[in-house]
Amino acid sequence: MHPSDKPADAALPDLAGAPWLSAASTQRVMAAIAAGGFEARAVGGVVRNALFGLPVTDIDIATTATPGDVVRLARYAGFEVVETGLKHGTLTVIVDKHPFEVTTLRRDVETHGRHATVAFTDDWAEDARRRDFTMNALYCDAAGRLHDPLGGIGDLRARRVRFIGEAAERIREDYLRILRFFRFTAQYADGAYDAAGLLACTRERGGLAQLSAERVRQELVRLLVAPGALAAVETMREHGILADVLPAAPRPGLLARVIEIDRGHGLPADAMVRLAALGVELLEDAVRLAEGLRLSREERGGLLLGSSDEARFAEPPGERDAKVLLYCHGADDYRALLVQAWARSLSASVRDPRWSEALTLPDRWQPPKLPVKGADVMARGIPAGPKVGEALRMLEAWWIEQDFVPDREALLARL
Ligand code: ATP
Ligand code: MG
Repeated sequence: MHPSDKPADAALPDLAGAPWLSAASTQRVMAAIAAGGFEARAVGGVVRNALFGLPVTDIDIATTATPGDVVRLARYAGFEVVETGLKHGTLTVIVDKHPFEVTTLRRDVETHGRHATVAFTDDWAEDARRRDFTMNALYCDAAGRLHDPLGGIGDLRARRVRFIGEAAERIREDYLRILRFFRFTAQYADGAYDAAGLLACTRERGGLAQLSAERVRQELVRLLVAPGALAAVETMREHGILADVLPAAPRPGLLARVIEIDRGHGLPADAMVRLAALGVELLEDAVRLAEGLRLSREERGGLLLGSSDEARFAEPPGERDAKVLLYCHGADDYRALLVQAWARSLSASVRDPRWSEALTLPDRWQPPKLPVKGADVMARGIPAGPKVGEALRMLEAWWIEQDFVPDREALLARL
């Protein structure tokens, strides 16, 4: 045993009963590594969330085995191995279709503000020290025993997101940690910012500019859907940090309205709806943000909804217009559009029952399907080609105008 690897502390909570840990796939991957005489422990988000009683998604495993040993042992056990980040010591081991990220214990040899050169080690405390926050440096072995080399459990219990080591120094190693500080505080700390961490983020904010769009995007999207998103954005703005990630003039007031409307209707948090509220007024804002953050086509669509004229009605749409909107956009985009429009209609209360009625239309009414198809049109003598689509579109327009009432026969007669 390495001298810094103290035995599990009896006063620490026990995760032996956790379903993700007792799952056959987790036990099998850990046993495969142990079979080679190495240690394997779950680490990071999975341990933190399990201790908070929150759902666990992906499982990260830290091990004393080198990547070469992990490949050999995992293949010997019959598991598929993907060389995800081999030069950083990370492999993905797939057991019964469940992926595990298995990373060799490591320490940073050299850091460059964006990425690091690493060396492997068998010292658990060294591995813990290069992680970002104390609550992210807890380990759990196959038997459910917790290992806490840096004493992070106290911060976790107090819901305190605190940098490991000297905050400013840790930020200079990787500026993404600024955004992670806000994201984790918004997620787990009820928005109570650690003063030393906040000061260091403020001092080092100039380094944010050197981060890649992909990494910023990933953190920002998760920050925006966290329970403390609004406080995070406001704190970032007050400390001059928001401007580096959000080129447009931010509107936290709009974001606040969107969050209240969402909550009032039990709608799931949508990062693009929130981002649009916060930073999209004009079409060019949406385009600039989408490019700056390298958003996907789908995400871009969500942002554009916020800048569209359709999201600019001062009054809630009447039943008839609402149905047309719902028919044309589908339930998800309809809701996103209505939330944007409502939030931006600043004179309306976020509890206005008329808006609420319009927003909940998809719960009461499902748009019908146009009861005729291209084949019907062709059967009436229109040859295959662009004319068919044209005829269908004209029929559809008439059908919508007639409140979706005409049935198949009526439509065919009109044709
Ligand atoms: P979640 O996946 O739920 O957002 P997580 O804690 O698993 O939370 P990941 O980004 O998956 O977050 O990272 C896994 C672990 O790796 C973290 O818990 C932390 O210990 C470490 N880590 C990740 N990114 C960094 C970083 N930029 N600097 C230092 N440590 C990091
Ligand atoms: Mg994770």
